[in-house]
Amino acid sequence: MMKTGTITKISGPLVVASDMKEANMFDVVRVSDKGLIGEIIEMHEDRASIQVYEETSGLKTGEKVFSTGEPLSVELGPGLIGSIFDGIQRPLVEIMKQCGNNLERGVDVPSLNREKLWVFEPCLEAGERVSGGDIIGTIQETGIISHKIMIPPDLSGIIKEISGGTCTVEDIVAIILDEKGVEHGVGVMQKWPVRKGRPYKRKLSPDMPLLTGQRVVDALFPIAKGGVAAIPGPFGSGKTVTQHQLAKWADADIVVYIGCGERGNEMTDVLNEFPELIDPHTGKSLMERTVLIANTSDMPVAAREASIYTGITIAEYFRDMGYNVALMADSTSRWAEALREMSGRLEEMPGEEGYPAYLGSRLAQFYERAGRVISLGKDSREGTLSVIGAVSPAGGDISEPVSQATLRIVKVFWGLDSSLAYKRHFPAINWLTSYSLYAGSLGKWFNENVNSEWTELRTQIMRLLSDEAELDEMVKLVGMDALSASDRLKMEAARSIREDFLHQLAFHEVDTYTSADKQYLMMKLVCSFYKEALEALEKGAEINGIVKLPVREAIGRFKYIPEAETADAFESVYAQLKEQLGVCVKGEDD
Ligand code: ADP
Repeated sequence: MMKTGTITKISGPLVVASDMKEANMFDVVRVSDKGLIGEIIEMHEDRASIQVYEETSGLKTGEKVFSTGEPLSVELGPGLIGSIFDGIQRPLVEIMKQCGNNLERGVDVPSLNREKLWVFEPCLEAGERVSGGDIIGTIQETGIISHKIMIPPDLSGIIKEISGGTCTVEDIVAIILDEKGVEHGVGVMQKWPVRKGRPYKRKLSPDMPLLTGQRVVDALFPIAKGGVAAIPGPFGSGKTVTQHQLAKWADADIVVYIGCGERGNEMTDVLNEFPELIDPHTGKSLMERTVLIANTSDMPVAAREASIYTGITIAEYFRDMGYNVALMADSTSRWAEALREMSGRLEEMPGEEGYPAYLGSRLAQFYERAGRVISLGKDSREGTLSVIGAVSPAGGDISEPVSQATLRIVKVFWGLDSSLAYKRHFPAINWLTSYSLYAGSLGKWFNENVNSEWTELRTQIMRLLSDEAELDEMVKLVGMDALSASDRLKMEAARSIREDFLHQLAFHEVDTYTSADKQYLMMKLVCSFYKEALEALEKGAEINGIVKLPVREAIGRFKYIPEAETADAFESVYAQLKEQLGVCVKGEDD
């Protein structure tokens, strides 16, 4: 039986209902006969404040509210990958098929397709003992993702029956007899409340990079698998392009992309672009590893608030299967605004800039769900969930509350800079203000797995870039001519690092992605130019000659050389460098 209450107040997405004594905090409710979906976010005696995820215009006081008695949950099972959901996991493509482009209020379409047939292959047999997290079998969900069917976290017992073959998400594939002799069906699909993190056995500290193919990220400010990063930046500085680049190229098994209504058309970009893209790691469509959460423009802001929880719960579920999952949220500022709006309507005491006092703790709760974990289950699988949140502070001023609260939590900060974007230096990640607290521990991985010189080269690059900033100040005062030859060389080397290495075009066929091996060769080239030229200077070469060496153009074009040809090209460019510097030194002798 559904418990009912009566609407006493409507204020935008907030509906207050009385006679709700029986309902619980966070229960999902249906509002009025239209069946609008809402969630109880506050209870005062029998009065419930409900956040409604659909347009509330036309509602009247006195109408009924029905509590479902269940918290806001997502359906977890095969069919998630390749889907496009809204903030409360309604399947947008299916809904559009049923009601056209205009999302009707109160529509009821199940999140996961009920008709689609899957093939379940058990990997355990009747009689075996299982507990929460154990994998009992698999379903090949896409060409690349094998969906693991797991025992729900709180269940344990002995398998009484298990049957393979064709099934739908609603089917029961195994029956478990618990200690008390009670039978429990294990379905293809599970439900999980979005506001509760999924359990795991243990958290480990992240020790492997999430390789993104973006040079400024991997080489200078790397993120770990299981790590947390933020990209704050003003409008037009490249947050979205960067998020898309990461979603396309990061070496994650699964990508969950949440578009929190940053701009209407940009989700359309994702929807049009992603299915066409080929995943470089598998050669298959990118959608075969992607789940998209989109807040459509016809949904009120309240739905944004739920969308990040919906997204991260789906991401945790795949992490539990032992996958490396990357979640991108664009942008968490829009999410925070939704929080602020609801807080205002609830007449809570406002904190800084009108955001509720719990903004920081809510953000922390969200980012805390990232990590590298040992999942529940016998086989101690390791899975990771990396979270990358874009922040869009008004005017790019990161002293505002959402940026500040985010910076206190995340370990990687990619600070986008409008002046770099203005100069068309992309990605406009400012190398002087950005940081990665993983750089130290991941350096070890790069040294062992790419090249033992990796951290040494990174240090040289960072030093040259910061020296350049200092020298720049001096040049402003006294002019370039007043610099010593070795300082001029430093400036030239730093320019080469910026232009030939850090600058990377997202829309160039080859430049859009650089493997770690190629990144190493590029770092080696720009650093060798500096090192060898410095030696040449000491042997008496002219700085003016060094600056104009033809090999510098070859170093600049190196990024456009396809991956397969880079090793040979490196040898050739390096030989040219040696030879031309040799001539410079000799020229001085003559
Ligand atoms: P934001 O989301 O911060 O408002 P966008 O991501 O939409 O900004 O970027 C604005 C513009 O900057 C893009 O349309 C594109 O022209 C340019 N841009 C950003 N990053 C890159 C990149 N890596 N390569 C090339 N162009 C870029």
